Amino acid sequence: MLALIRELFPICRSITGDGLRQTLSRLGELIPLETHEVPTGTQVFDWTIPKEWNIRDAFIKDRSGRRVVDFEENNLHVVNYSVPVRARMTLRDLRPHLHSLPAHADWIPYRTSYYTEAWGFCLSHRVLESLPDDEYEVVIDSSLRAGALTFAECVVPGRLDDEFLISTHVCHPSMANDNLSGVAVAVMLARILAGARPRYTYRFLFLPGTIGAITWLALNEVAAPKVKHGLVLACVGDRGDVHYKRSRRGDADIDRAVEHVLRTKHEPFAVEDFSPYGYDERQFCSPGFDLPMGGFRRSPGGQYAEYHSSADDTDFVSAPHLAHSLGTLLEVIDLIENDVKFLNLSPMGEPQLGKRGLLPAAGETAQLALLWVLNLSDGRSGVLDIAERSGLPFDVLRPAIESLLNGGLLEERRRPADRSERSTMMHEP
Ligand code: ZN
Repeated sequence: MLALIRELFPICRSITGDGLRQTLSRLGELIPLETHEVPTGTQVFDWTIPKEWNIRDAFIKDRSGRRVVDFEENNLHVVNYSVPVRARMTLRDLRPHLHSLPAHADWIPYRTSYYTEAWGFCLSHRVLESLPDDEYEVVIDSSLRAGALTFAECVVPGRLDDEFLISTHVCHPSMANDNLSGVAVAVMLARILAGARPRYTYRFLFLPGTIGAITWLALNEVAAPKVKHGLVLACVGDRGDVHYKRSRRGDADIDRAVEHVLRTKHEPFAVEDFSPYGYDERQFCSPGFDLPMGGFRRSPGGQYAEYHSSADDTDFVSAPHLAHSLGTLLEVIDLIENDVKFLNLSPMGEPQLGKRGLLPAAGETAQLALLWVLNLSDGRSGVLDIAERSGLPFDVLRPAIESLLNGGLLEERRRPADRSERSTMMHEP
């Protein structure tokens, strides 16, 4: 994942254009990807697909011809979506177009001018302060023309038509945590699930933020209710603790599953309620859709100093934290995949476990797991309910369920819709 982040890092992405295409085309070498091009001018709900933005070069040259700000050196130097410019101007005239971070004088900020025709440069405050009051040559060799908005999806077919949707934004230029980390973790999840023959159908979306999510929803308005669970992945590679933002519903299975996994890991974590701000959960949880989708992240966007700056680089993310995010997500998926209902076949009093050889020799927790599964398998409670009420991790419940099934004390209770399914027990993805 870290290698993929490093490889994609230099590409100048945006909400449209060739940098986005190049990124998605590389992802298509790693997972089966269907890429869509939606023409400029297409109406998507209340929005319109904008003109396509591409850039070749940009710089500010001083009188001696030296590039004091150079897009070739860092693509954050140009305000993303800047209109083309070719001018000579004094520092005084140029100054309103220059953005820096006085509190972090060596960092270059990341700024955009989507949906407003403007231009500008971002530079370190140190460089800005060093510019003499003189005349400069200013060039942004960009184009804004009718084209398309590009997005891509990867579908891992499951035994059910019901979908688990995982969405990540892919429109940021050279920044690692926000959000190549989300892209890399999503790619790895798709690869692992593709080899696991899951119960749910998994759909991975690689979208330009906001407009991409709105576009996908507009094109999938009828199919969207198939989404039974979902997560928006962002900022999943930094050293912060896992931070989960609940879906708008607040008590969706995905909210309960993530919170249960986090609680039983005995590591610090944070959970916050839904708010109509942040990443594309804003769109998926808009009232017309209200999809059961939460936000999975480590340090939340906007709440770490390096956010939207050149300091969100490949050193800001780490392989162990990417792996921890991936592992936690796999635990959540494992729980959701196995959240089925069972029926205790010997519900009159406790069945005698000892005579069946089911009483675990070692450890109280394993015995507790057996008793919880038996007691709550009344045909109404599912595995997620049992996990929540017992406080036991699914890893502890799984062997208890398996031995009760094998011992003839439990049978799976299928929903009518699940009849065509093959046995769902119980393989980790
Ligand atoms: Zn961002």
